[in-house]
Amino acid sequence: MAEVMVSASVERDESVRTAYSADASGLVMVPEGVVRPTSAAEVASLLADASANGTAVTCAGGQTSTTGASITDRGIVLSLRAMDRVIDLDPKARTVRVEPGVFVGELKRACAAHGLLLAPDPTSEEECTVGGAVACNASGARSLRYGATRPHVRALKVALADGSIVELRRPSLEKNTVGYALAHDPVDWFVGSEGTLGVVVEVELGLLSLPEQVTGLAIPFATEQDALAFIVGARESAVVNPRCLEFFDRRALAIAREAESTPGWAQGADAFVYVEEVPLPGAAPALDAWLELAEQRGALTDDVNVYEGESALREARRVRHAVPATMNERGSLRRPHGGRKVSTDWAVPYARLGEMLAKARTFADIAGIEQAVTYGHAGNGHPHQNFIAHDAEELRRIESVVEQTLREVIAMGGTVAAEHGIGKIKRKWLPLQMSPLQVRTMHAVKRELDPAGILAPGNVL
Ligand SMILES: Cc1cc2nc3c(=O)[nH]c(=O)nc-3n(C[C@H](O)[C@H](O)[C@H](O)COP(=O)(O)OP(=O)(O)OC[C@H]3O[C@@H](n4cnc5c(N)ncnc54)[C@H](O)[C@@H]3O)c2cc1C
Repeated sequence: MAEVMVSASVERDESVRTAYSADASGLVMVPEGVVRPTSAAEVASLLADASANGTAVTCAGGQTSTTGASITDRGIVLSLRAMDRVIDLDPKARTVRVEPGVFVGELKRACAAHGLLLAPDPTSEEECTVGGAVACNASGARSLRYGATRPHVRALKVALADGSIVELRRPSLEKNTVGYALAHDPVDWFVGSEGTLGVVVEVELGLLSLPEQVTGLAIPFATEQDALAFIVGARESAVVNPRCLEFFDRRALAIAREAESTPGWAQGADAFVYVEEVPLPGAAPALDAWLELAEQRGALTDDVNVYEGESALREARRVRHAVPATMNERGSLRRPHGGRKVSTDWAVPYARLGEMLAKARTFADIAGIEQAVTYGHAGNGHPHQNFIAHDAEELRRIESVVEQTLREVIAMGGTVAAEHGIGKIKRKWLPLQMSPLQVRTMHAVKRELDPAGILAPGNVL
């Protein structure tokens, strides 16, 4: 093992290194050492040493990355989990300033106690950190209304590769013609950079008012086509006001039924849509309008489940989370055989989702692989397709189906990765979406901020 050349307290014990060697990608990469700093100053001094010695440093938060972005077999894993203070929660200014290791779910509850909503809502919020959410520009079901993490980041403190610390605040200009747009707001360089440009050591997030009333509806449909047509109808309706529109195909519905301990729910259904309605201020919830829309699209309206109140909505969220969690477990079981879960994260314009899913399924049929469990953010044209590769040979066939699918996605004006980033696993697909000019520009930014190339080697570029 190469000597890790930094003065910070590097833990080299095998059990510690193994504890940081896996994330939700199904890959295992054992680092040469682990550092668990408790302050920004420690992070900065580690980075200065690492740059001088050419030691690679890969950040890790909750290690829920599905793309291998938080693991490495080169140099150090820098775990930010011990930096988990809420520095300042200001209900008047509606902002919260935190260290990167705070869990998103915990922070949400702290904000809710003041009547405030932390909008980013990755399904993994109980296991993922604010630093990881910023680094991946995480989004979630409610991003349909509130957007991903990016618009909620007001300011960042970042330790750069050379060991300096920069404090960045979004400009409040309404007009600006100075210089290139890509240099206007450096906060945006780091949001979504997957640990490749700097280490986020402090984050200030803007908060919204907690909505007074939210109603969740699980609406079953006899066919997947009806469910997808309902989603397009809801996006285009002037009457309903959803903050999420989530789709579950037949296979995902089977997992959700188990998680809800109601195996008999909606027996005639082949798919369902989960909706959260937030009435506009002063307006009544548009439940009748939802049911009318559902009926028009052939929903099995006798079996609609209604979730009202905080604990019921949490339960609906738990059921939703059971789908990726179950698929992760199924994937882990195949690791000893060279298999794993393969999860896609593509998105297309929402009105073309049905067309795209049909094509993706045809590719899978032709390749003779088992169809994916498909679920997720259909309101944004953004499903997750989770395949289980039972062994290395099947993994190769699944990856080739995914690549065929992604080429079609790009042809429809979509993206290869809408919310999980591309890390190590999806990096090979970057050139499908980005032109050589865009890739060269990203390399130029990387060279400027991390000339020795120590930060998260193998992620993104
Ligand atoms: C069951 C499940 C459900 C999920 N659902 C969603 C979802 O709904 N939406 C979504 O967007 N994602 C989802 N994800 C993916 C993942 O949870 C998110 O990307 C999450 O934001 C990662 O946070 P983390 O703390 O686990 O980061 P990690 O996995 O530890 O790291 C992710 C990336 O961030 C970098 N990083 C971490 N901390 C820092 C830091 N302080 N400074 C710089 N870089 C840093 C790492 O180097 C790595 O590149 C899901 C994952 C699972 C397993």
